[in-house]
Amino acid sequence: MPAPNRFAFFNGEFVPIEQAQVSVMTAALNYGLGVFEGIRAYWNAEQEQLFVFQLREHMERLQRSCKIMFMELPYSADELCTLTVELLRREGFREDAYIRPLVYKSDQTIAVRLHGLSDAFTIYAVTFGQYIPGSAIRACVSSWRRIEDNIMPSRAKVSGGYVNSALAKTEALLNGYDEAIVLGDDGHVSEASAANLYIVRHGALITPPITSDVLEGITRRVVAELARAELGVPVIERPIDRTELYVADEAFFCGTGAEIKPIIEIDRRPVGTGQVGSVTARLVELYRDVVRGRASAYRSWCTPVYPG
Ligand code: PMP
Repeated sequence: MPAPNRFAFFNGEFVPIEQAQVSVMTAALNYGLGVFEGIRAYWNAEQEQLFVFQLREHMERLQRSCKIMFMELPYSADELCTLTVELLRREGFREDAYIRPLVYKSDQTIAVRLHGLSDAFTIYAVTFGQYIPGSAIRACVSSWRRIEDNIMPSRAKVSGGYVNSALAKTEALLNGYDEAIVLGDDGHVSEASAANLYIVRHGALITPPITSDVLEGITRRVVAELARAELGVPVIERPIDRTELYVADEAFFCGTGAEIKPIIEIDRRPVGTGQVGSVTARLVELYRDVVRGRASAYRSWCTPVYPG
């Protein structure tokens, strides 16, 4: 049984989770006016330690999302990291967890705008396993297009933007697939419903550039660093055509929730041989060690929660 979560940081203090409530009139609930992060913490049983992965990078992205959305966050990135560690200590989790900071327009008024409204901030954490079940999955190209940056900021994690993600994900699951690949408005590959995408062609990793309406994924960057430094595999950022998905040697999704998730079939065509490819398999293994603080070269990416 996963441990229940007991606390939230809410309105400037740690409170029992039952007290972290908002009104139905809250602007964020009515109009999707929030920005958030999804962060993972990994339990390392040998070291009896919980490691938060890329904590500061997530908090810095939260600050950038706030800037885009005219939101005030009265905490520095360091303070946000400290609050996260404090929350996890209070929870006392001894298993993998997922941390959700959320900044939101908290006014209880009929007002569709960003300026001149109050911002509230909360963090809670839950124990968490796999986000996408299975060790290798089947994907489809969605009939939904990815939100375009002039319609809604695609590089910010805006609550309302996840309507797009939810439409694509539900379509994929109801049609019998495990995940969606969403094309951008220009018809090129953008990303998954809540993860970035890499393909392998001719020995190189290829991912859409940050101008392809993708979220600027932290795992996406981690994968690029690991592939270059540890596997000696070149990483190319360029637009990807839909049919390149069908002829790729390998493909995988990557994200905090998704982790590194091999794709073995796209639109009913096997990816490569239809088995998990060697570059993907090595990245899965490497990532598994890095996030749990087992790779000394990347230990600085992991923030320990418990003293000692
Ligand atoms: N794209 C979207 C739309 C996402 O929600 C996520 C998950 N945060 C990602 C990509 C992957 O980003 P990250 O690696 O920073 O979790």
